[in-house]
Formats: sequence, C-alpha cells, structure tokens
Amino acid sequence: MSSKNREQILYSKQYPEVARWLNQCVICGSVGYKPEMPTKIFPGFLAENIRKLFKPLIVNEINLCNDCAKHWIKSMEQDNSEKI
Ligand SMILES: [Zn+2]
Repeated sequence: MSSKNREQILYSKQYPEVARWLNQCVICGSVGYKPEMPTKIFPGFLAENIRKLFKPLIVNEINLCNDCAKHWIKSMEQDNSEKI
C-alpha cells in the first residue's frame, strides 16, 4: 500500500464526512472525489484536503469508473457477438 493510500484511509477515518464526497468504482475499487464537490466546504478545509489526497473520479449510474465502464461495455459486446 502506498503512503498516499494510507493517508487517504487515515483521513477518511478521521473525518467520516469525507465519504459523502467520494466515489468508488465497484470493479477496480479506485476511489476519488466527486467532480461536483464544491471548492469550499464550510467550516474548515475538507474540500482542499480531499483535492490534495484524491483524484477526481467520475462513475456512472452503476458505480463504474470510465475505464471499467469501457471494458464492461466491450465484454458485453463480445458476449453478444458470441451468441449470434
Ligand atoms: Zn474502475
């Protein structure tokens, strides 16, 4: 585990409200902040710290990140073409 990961886990434990600003991909497990997170969350420096520790992560409606969504769609297409 990288020190960045450790920092992320420690920070999330210390500030449980961090979780509501995070997205997690259900396939690869990557975690990032929601792009719609405001630049400032009052009070304090939650948004600033989250931006320092995490990358932005967009997930779709079934909680897949862009990469996994692409692979998933591809594998679905392959499944379909095998059946035909
Ligand atoms: Zn993913």
